[in-house]
Amino acid sequence: MFRIGLGHDTHRLGPGTGLVIGGITIPHDRAAIGHSDADVLLHAITDALLGAAALGDIGEMFPDTDPANRGRDSADMLRRALERVSAAGWRIVNLDCVISAQRPRILSHRPAIRRRIAEILGVGEDAVWLKAKTGEGVGPVGEELAVAAECVVLVERRA
Ligand code: MG
Repeated sequence: MFRIGLGHDTHRLGPGTGLVIGGITIPHDRAAIGHSDADVLLHAITDALLGAAALGDIGEMFPDTDPANRGRDSADMLRRALERVSAAGWRIVNLDCVISAQRPRILSHRPAIRRRIAEILGVGEDAVWLKAKTGEGVGPVGEELAVAAECVVLVERRA
């Protein structure tokens, strides 16, 4: 038995240096703003996983009203979501993601991001794919006001 999940996230860009995307820090002259470390890609993956198993969402699991979640490592949130999904009897088949950022160009970081995500999730790198898009210079992404990410994940019932 298989199920799919979909996740989406957006974070505003603001003053700061370094963007955390997919569990790695990419040098940049702006930073993503958020309650946690604002890792837009790991948040989308977390929601996709929870959605596949119908087990809630990231906002429910890690409310931004809880001081414990301030500055939280998104890899830790993803691991906890995975534990919940695994405990319900599901294992990851693969995931496919899109990251949208006008700058910096993400593609050269793809190998490192895939490696990191595979490591966090305990899957092979070939189970993780990532596409990078710009905003074509228009809209919040194109005007460098925000970065966004989507993820679909397939899970299967463990034998
Ligand atoms: Mg988020």
